[in-house]
Amino acid sequence: MRYISTRGESPSLSFEEAMLTGLARDGGLYVPETWPQLSHDEIATMAGMSYEEVAFRVIKPFIGDTYTDGEFREILSKAYSSFKHDARCPLVQLGPNDFLLELHHGPTLAFKDVAMQLVGQMFEVSLKRRGEHVTIVGATSGDTGSAAIEAFRGLESVDVFIMYPHGRVSDVQRRQMTTPDDDNIHALAVDGDFDDCQAQLKNMFNDFEFRDEVKLAGVNSINWARVMAQVVYYFTSAVSLGAPHRKISFTVPTGNFGDIFAGYVAKRMGLPIERLVIATNQNDILHRTLTSGDHSKNGVTPSMSPSMDIQVSSNFERLLFDLYDREGGAISQLIGDLNSNGAFTLSQGALERLRDEFDSARCSEEDTSATIRFAQKHFGEIVCPHTAVAIKVAADVRGDHATPMVILATAHAAKFPDAVEAACDVRSDLPPHMDGLFERPERVTRVANDLSAIRDIIRKGITD
Ligand SMILES: *Cc1c(COP(=O)(O)O)cnc(C)c1O
Repeated sequence: MRYISTRGESPSLSFEEAMLTGLARDGGLYVPETWPQLSHDEIATMAGMSYEEVAFRVIKPFIGDTYTDGEFREILSKAYSSFKHDARCPLVQLGPNDFLLELHHGPTLAFKDVAMQLVGQMFEVSLKRRGEHVTIVGATSGDTGSAAIEAFRGLESVDVFIMYPHGRVSDVQRRQMTTPDDDNIHALAVDGDFDDCQAQLKNMFNDFEFRDEVKLAGVNSINWARVMAQVVYYFTSAVSLGAPHRKISFTVPTGNFGDIFAGYVAKRMGLPIERLVIATNQNDILHRTLTSGDHSKNGVTPSMSPSMDIQVSSNFERLLFDLYDREGGAISQLIGDLNSNGAFTLSQGALERLRDEFDSARCSEEDTSATIRFAQKHFGEIVCPHTAVAIKVAADVRGDHATPMVILATAHAAKFPDAVEAACDVRSDLPPHMDGLFERPERVTRVANDLSAIRDIIRKGITD
């Protein structure tokens, strides 16, 4: 499989090159040249298989012969042995036709681990084989950073620099990034919001001299390998609920659009998904886009669900590429409008296609709290604020559809203990494997929202 840029100006790459590079040099995102197909029978045989075995079958068409089958099985087995549940991503039933897909059994208690643990193992095998060292720089609204750090800590072939918005991540999230003591791990607290961090990351990737000098690599959700790894749990969960013999719907708490885009990919591959529901908090640019076609930024308002506090939803570009018949020029124009005017408007055709594939709704802060309380009372489930947003939205859009609804539970409640306790009077404890998080010393560099200051810190911090 070859990978092409959504802006149409960069040469196509192999899977390994696309994974190690992250962002295309024309500013676009890599997508597979075609969507691979899994037949009805191939999906049916996944019933009862281990998570790793389903992952092998779903991912194989995207990576071709990048790794031997033996190597890839070994990579999968290492990646998911860090998960505390044998099913890796288990389902919990909430009601007759409603299910929670728990994606938070990995080392940092958020769904980012599902992809990042796999990407860490793939990077290691690829870089060792090529005899290369890379500098991974990431921007995080909270959960990506710690997931990347856990996936890459101690590896010789990578240095990891994670930028997070100073004062805008939870204590648990921050400590997960600042307490690992490995030399190759560097946490940077940026004076700005998540969009600033993400913009600096893009600036670094567009600075080709710096990019080549430090061998910059990205593992943000703009990295295709991340999205690819997330496609797997749409298959495992749908198949356990009866797919491909019946349709399944999903509601996804959405920020950067990586997770729900993976659901769209699963659908393109042949998984019978009826509805894909985008759930947003008060930062609702995607919901507004679906409602009116108007994709306009209007600032970030911090919320209880910080990992969704986003106005620029990077992976949305991958969907736009399909909505505009894979015309790179059209995408460059839209993103150009967004960068210069803070907005673009979808064509009528693109808007109709978007609505054919997705539903959306937003959830206010009050409703998020009320839903945490409701889930604790009625289902006996303590859920994180992101998951609560999705539970509320799923209930709003559900109507009398008989199709099973799978709601993605993206983080463990213990990552957001204050918001959860304020909502339902129950304190969610960290699991035992996180003991000591609040005792270990923190290591972090505070930095201005300034490209050259950030570049200097990275140049000086790289270990040899
Ligand atoms: C990252 C994250 C999200 C948003 O996922 P996207 O792929 O960015 O849409 C939702 N919930 C939690 C807990 C997250 O960490």
